[in-house]
Amino acid sequence: MAEHDTPQDTSHDLAPPSLDAAPWLARPETLRVFAALSGETGATRAVGGALRDALLGLPVADVDFATTIAPEEVIARARKAGLKAIPTGLAHGTVTLVADGVSFEVTTLRHDVETFGRHATVSFTEDWAEDAARRDFTLNALYAGMDGTLFDPLGGYPDLMAGRVRFIGDPAMRIEEDYLRILRFFRFNAWYGRGAFDAAGLSACVRARAGLRQLSSERVASEVKRLLVAPQAAVAVSVLFDYGLLCDILGAAPKLSRFARLIGIEDALDRKPHAILRLAALAVFVPEDAKRLARRFKLSNAEQALLALGGVPFVDALPDEAAAKRKLYALGPTAYAARVLLAWANGDAPVTDPAWRSAATLAERWDAPVFSLRGTDITALGKFSGPEIGDMLRRVEQRWIEGGFAEDREGLLALAKALTADGGS
Ligand code: ATP
Ligand code: MG
Repeated sequence: MAEHDTPQDTSHDLAPPSLDAAPWLARPETLRVFAALSGETGATRAVGGALRDALLGLPVADVDFATTIAPEEVIARARKAGLKAIPTGLAHGTVTLVADGVSFEVTTLRHDVETFGRHATVSFTEDWAEDAARRDFTLNALYAGMDGTLFDPLGGYPDLMAGRVRFIGDPAMRIEEDYLRILRFFRFNAWYGRGAFDAAGLSACVRARAGLRQLSSERVASEVKRLLVAPQAAVAVSVLFDYGLLCDILGAAPKLSRFARLIGIEDALDRKPHAILRLAALAVFVPEDAKRLARRFKLSNAEQALLALGGVPFVDALPDEAAAKRKLYALGPTAYAARVLLAWANGDAPVTDPAWRSAATLAERWDAPVFSLRGTDITALGKFSGPEIGDMLRRVEQRWIEGGFAEDREGLLALAKALTADGGS
């Protein structure tokens, strides 16, 4: 057994614990994948994000595996064990296995033979050290065996515990192989970093920043969205700004103070961060900004609509309760809350301001009523036809809104009759 294969490598001051009690590792689906791929002999190990998050006590979403078993053999064995096997990235040695509805990515150990930007020609290997060396950061090169034993060939565990995001190997060379690693460096710092960014990594990122232009918009957008919702997003974004990378990434001049205020407000409200809302706070001031960013990051129509709220003048002053209800009725709860948060972030009211807080949380206390009159109700009055019916409906609805939604259906019918008696004026 090679030295790097020794569990709980003692060459680092902080020995990683065993994960044998980790719930994700004990799940029957995880164990079925391990069992199908000789996990008990060490041929297959869990790797990457699952390990990182489990060691930090964070919830584990996806589990990725690394294996010495060749991809075709992975497929054959998985199918024999009753698992679904999808050859998602066979050329790169990646197969997706599905066990009882849960998906796992299994990648055969490989080394990159040639790299052109992000396109690598690969050949497979049985060398775990080589697999680790190919990964991006030391904290992403942690492995666990089926019994929970941790393998840490590159000192990723002490780095993780200290909040150090460190490139594996020479940062400049690693970035040249794949410029996305620049953004990943900032994303992982935003999630796991503590203290100053690793100086060698940061300076290599800054020097290689022109390479960002070679990346596809989908890859950039996915990294940026994940960075924006991280616990230390404000720090990472301001470092990106200070070193001249942020404007290139966004294609726009950002406003860091509004971004930081939105984060403060979300924290004060205990609200889950939303990437698009944060992007709106950071970089959308007029509707054109939203259009340009949506094109650049290939956002969905719904995302573009939310983003555009950053550029809509709304309540830069706090709405009173009645005005807030009218806005909520008109916009629906999602757009309403987004607009209030952005308006709040735009101004200078404290993030603990009770009146803003009350406006922002209105949808939690008040369900907007449903306007229950229909065209047939207006027709039944016998005075209107064609487009007049829609006009009349809108007039009744307008009165109802202005009056604070007081009338029920009976009241609305009476209101329609009264307006009709007024001569429809
Ligand atoms: P998350 O899923 O939360 O983004 P993750 O670490 O699992 O985190 P994945 O993109 O699923 O990230 O990748 C799995 C592992 O593959 C990573 O932990 C890392 O070891 C390696 N990896 C992913 N992308 C790269 C890259 N661009 N360069 C080098 N290694 C990478
Ligand atoms: Mg993952």
